Amino acid sequence: MKELTNRIKTNGRVLGEGVLKVDEFITHQVDPELMEQTGKRFAEVFKDQGITKVVTIESSGIAPAVYAAQALGVPMIFARKSKSLTMDEELLTASVYSFTKQVSSTISISRKFLSAQDRVLLIDDFLANGQAAKGLIELCQQAGAEVAGIGILIEKSFQDGRKLLEDMAVPVVSLARIASLHEGKVSFLEEDA
Ligand code: 5GP
Repeated sequence: MKELTNRIKTNGRVLGEGVLKVDEFITHQVDPELMEQTGKRFAEVFKDQGITKVVTIESSGIAPAVYAAQALGVPMIFARKSKSLTMDEELLTASVYSFTKQVSSTISISRKFLSAQDRVLLIDDFLANGQAAKGLIELCQQAGAEVAGIGILIEKSFQDGRKLLEDMAVPVVSLARIASLHEGKVSFLEEDA
């Protein structure tokens, strides 16, 4: 998606260890117009898939996910990374190893929000090794919900996430695919993905 790749070229910053910082427009300050465009793109791709819920993980997946949900006319649910005192219902839970924080945490969604009748579109900001996505898939599986696909803003194609998800037969749609982050430079796999 041209708008996203252009923005990464302008405002993305490569940190060491294969990490891209996008806090100007996704992970801290948020560009609502760009996020709306990404959400609409995901909705366009998955509009014939009978999606009943959009599911993401807090916090940076929420903006694109809510716009995708709005465009599809369905609710958006975000998995929580820490348990809130107000979450007194039965929970679906999964353990996720965080690529950026390098710790495992338990993610959860109240069971009442997902059921075997749901067809789910997953959304996240980054795909690295696929652990966040795998955790979200596990939550859906516990509810008996079907995962129709996953929409990713930025896929780091030099990591293993896409392969992991494709091995699980989950279609992956990434709006920007990064081939490498060598020497502080972002190289894209396809210029206009
Ligand atoms: P994975 O679970 O696929 O290994 O990593 C995906 C998660 O790690 C995303 O939800 C995102 O929060 C974080 N992440 C992975 N790589 C990057 C990166 O290069 N930059 C930023 N800002 N977050 C990343």
